[in-house]
Amino acid sequence: MLKPNENYAKLKDSYLFYHIAQKTKAYLGENPGAHLYRLGIGDVSQPLCKAAIDALHQAVDDQAGEGSFHGYMPECGAPFLREAIAAHYAKRGVTLEAEEVFVSSGASDELGDILDLFARGSTVLIPEPAYPAYVDANVIEGNRIVHLPTGKAQSFLPLPDNTIVADVIYLCSPNNPTGAVLSKDLLQLWIDFANRTGAVILFDAAYEAFIEDGALPHSIFELPGAKTCAIEICSLSKTAGFTGTRLGYTVLPKALERGGQNLNAMWVRNRTTKTNGISYILQKGGAAIFSDEGQKQIKAQIDVYKHNAKVLTDALDALGIWYTGGKNAPYIWLQCPNGFKSWEFFDSLLQNAQIIGTPGVGFGACAEGYFRFSCFGNPKETAAAAEQLLRLLGK
Ligand code: PLP
Repeated sequence: MLKPNENYAKLKDSYLFYHIAQKTKAYLGENPGAHLYRLGIGDVSQPLCKAAIDALHQAVDDQAGEGSFHGYMPECGAPFLREAIAAHYAKRGVTLEAEEVFVSSGASDELGDILDLFARGSTVLIPEPAYPAYVDANVIEGNRIVHLPTGKAQSFLPLPDNTIVADVIYLCSPNNPTGAVLSKDLLQLWIDFANRTGAVILFDAAYEAFIEDGALPHSIFELPGAKTCAIEICSLSKTAGFTGTRLGYTVLPKALERGGQNLNAMWVRNRTTKTNGISYILQKGGAAIFSDEGQKQIKAQIDVYKHNAKVLTDALDALGIWYTGGKNAPYIWLQCPNGFKSWEFFDSLLQNAQIIGTPGVGFGACAEGYFRFSCFGNPKETAAAAEQLLRLLGK
């Protein structure tokens, strides 16, 4: 008799976004035609930049020519893209071999797939508040999850300590949902901890392109000791608007070994078994992002989101509301004013200012009383939302 994976029964319903959608629908039912200011979305609003579009068009044409047509692509990524990404790291002083870069169809896919490297039942540490997929992917695997709550006193940044026992450690910087960024000193503590205990860090760098403070690390591999304990998972989704186009990459150093096994070699074996590579067309589009022109163009897009962040944080500053993020990250994490709980504040913003945000408590129990604004929206809408906030909460 077939036995399904019983861990699926242990998954909690994805209550957060479902519940937001239900409440929004109910509001629009009662207030037909009402205009809503959407600060909840984690999706981008800017279209792909010209460099990517031109390269995608060219790649489609390549597929029409006998001499330029590409069939199956190498499973771990096209050399032209792996080399372009390695060269991008070199500009930050990180030396990588192209074979240490794996092209993926996005960070979400990779964050789930990468668990194939670890024994089922491994203990994973998830600092919270956290991107919900970390927990769910590990529940499906049957792993043991240790939640590490963070809070305002430490600006929502996780700190290692000697009581922690973990095989795998998730670190997300800049963080979703808090926008908090690990400093080099703090990240070094985690690297030293992982090397000392034999844990592996899964470093989610999906939002690294938003870092503007030169003292903050974009990549964990900027720090000594990372190559023997870390895997970095990156995405072009938020960096270059590829949420619907789908492309990411993972850096897995050849120096990373555990239990006598080389994790880079294991991942090559995994990819050559479980994928047939990423589309030639997408990889060409992705490579254009790493050209000088592509980098210039995505910076202009990121600046639009940063301007949104400034408009919102200016409003929060004027209102005297505590927040983190918004500077080196596309999310603003605020303490709900007037002692509101997360969902109470959601209701109040929706009913009284027609703003939709994301209740913090959906990202972990330690986040009750906090709230997330996304800066990925349309600038005009974001500015109007800031006005609404000032109107509702101003004295
Ligand atoms: N990691 C974090 C922290 C995210 O917030 C997201 C998406 O919102 C992802 C990964 C997934 O990115 P991708 O679109 O590349 O799957």
